[in-house]
Amino acid sequence: MSTRARPGGEELDAVIVGAGPNGLAAAVTLARAGLRVRVFERADQAGGGAATRELTIPGFLHDVCSAVHPMAFESRFFREFGLRDRVEFVTPEISFGHPLDGGRAGIAYRDLARTRDNLGSDGRAYEQLMRGLVARATEVAEFTGSALLQVPQDPATAVAFGLRALEQGTPAWNARFRQDVAPALLTGVAAHTILPEPSVAAAGAGLALTAYAHARGWPIPVGGSQAIIDAMVDDLRAHGGEVVLDHEVTSLAALPAARVTVLDVTPKALMRMAGDAMPEKYRRALRRFRYGDGVAKVDFALSEPVPWSHPELRHAGTVHVGGTRAEVAGAENEVNRGRMPVRPYVLVSQPTLFDATRAPAGMHTLWTYTHVPAGSPVDRKEAVIRQIERFAPGFRDTIVAASSRSAREVERHNPNYPGGDIAAGAPTFPQILGRPVFSPDPWRTPMPGVYLASASTAPGPGVHGLPGWFAALSALRHDFGTRALPDLSPRTRGS
Ligand SMILES: Cc1cc2nc3c(=O)[nH]c(=O)nc-3n(C[C@H](O)[C@H](O)[C@H](O)COP(=O)(O)OP(=O)(O)OC[C@H]3O[C@@H](n4cnc5c(N)ncnc54)[C@H](O)[C@@H]3O)c2cc1C
Repeated sequence: MSTRARPGGEELDAVIVGAGPNGLAAAVTLARAGLRVRVFERADQAGGGAATRELTIPGFLHDVCSAVHPMAFESRFFREFGLRDRVEFVTPEISFGHPLDGGRAGIAYRDLARTRDNLGSDGRAYEQLMRGLVARATEVAEFTGSALLQVPQDPATAVAFGLRALEQGTPAWNARFRQDVAPALLTGVAAHTILPEPSVAAAGAGLALTAYAHARGWPIPVGGSQAIIDAMVDDLRAHGGEVVLDHEVTSLAALPAARVTVLDVTPKALMRMAGDAMPEKYRRALRRFRYGDGVAKVDFALSEPVPWSHPELRHAGTVHVGGTRAEVAGAENEVNRGRMPVRPYVLVSQPTLFDATRAPAGMHTLWTYTHVPAGSPVDRKEAVIRQIERFAPGFRDTIVAASSRSAREVERHNPNYPGGDIAAGAPTFPQILGRPVFSPDPWRTPMPGVYLASASTAPGPGVHGLPGWFAALSALRHDFGTRALPDLSPRTRGS
């Protein structure tokens, strides 16, 4: 593959818009194929949904968006990239916990047998639901991490997964359980999707994440999510690529000439940037793409760890707050109807229990967000504090400072989250199959050399780099005539 000279001395093969995990995955892959790559990023820091900043007071490092990385060890891109050899991770023994009233809690240990033993009479039913998926977690990641129109490589696991998602995604979801703890544990994970409960798409995502929780755990990068981004930027630079910060791209026509353009933006932004260059049929298809409800984010600097009533929660990486299955489902369904729940579902991550580098000695950070109707301008700090206090009396007294962002502000900070939709497009069943359009190569647009690589494309949201990697491989195939997978490993010369 040869680099082509450009007017004005420019010699670019690929221009990438957006330095989120997917833009950078595409950039790294193309640079590793020997191409000359430049990334434009509107923010003053690379990272997008995986940036880490001092949001409250100096010395306290907060993950602006993603905090916990169930896909870090499962993503095919990150495995090719050798992420575990480049970034230090800590993996809590307790992947997630779920408090209930009366000082009770469900605890999802990495060890499935230990989890079973703590779930009383529902332990066996939970183990039977999860065991096959945990044993085949890599295969689950393989077929949920592709464009789902492709035939799964392991159909047996796909069928087992589908049957379980059907069970947990329909009103029959309580059939195998007698008590309230195991159902609450499962709903707490499914609710990550911000979808109505029960629903097959929410159950599917929840089961995959729960399988990873018991297989290799939910890892946390030392220093914050930014460590993942820094590893990608370092690799890109080592292979001749560049990242230009503080540079918002408003139109494709304004970009420097290059053979391919890879966009880490939403379909909505692509339509704006392409203008008349976009064929009408494709524009109509992108207009049908739907964005979901949003999140309001609240970060805390704490004088001590959260005083959870249930002592095991003081060792959990992630805590799902919101009460029983019925309560969490009720709160999520309120959001889906455009209403603000009184007792919301709150996602909590406690990074400084495992990574002391993020706060001054003895102090802590706490990462939380809660679901809200799309585009809500409401500050949810008080609602989040009240829900945590319900299961951790005295929490309010540990707060030293807080930073709160409404769903509207989440979008203002990063336009890839329209209305605060952190999935960059609702992960409903149709939008998992066709993301953003029904195609075996959904990253390639009908505009020559233009590819979409954000979480709005298959396989969807999360920090795993797969949309960017797939978009880059598609570009290599179609615009550079190569089907070879570039070697991304850290051992390659120049990295
Ligand atoms: C609050 C929150 C919590 C989350 N928690 C988790 C979690 O714990 N674990 C997990 O796996 N995932 C989590 N996610 C989801 C995850 O962060 C995203 O799915 C992932 O970052 C998507 O990557 P991306 O590269 O597609 O987009 P982004 O990470 O959003 O990156 C897009 C980049 O493009 C830039 N950009 C956009 N438009 C332009 C333009 N016109 N010109 C130049 N630059 C532009 C943006 O500034 C941004 O840097 C969370 C997201 C949020 C918001």
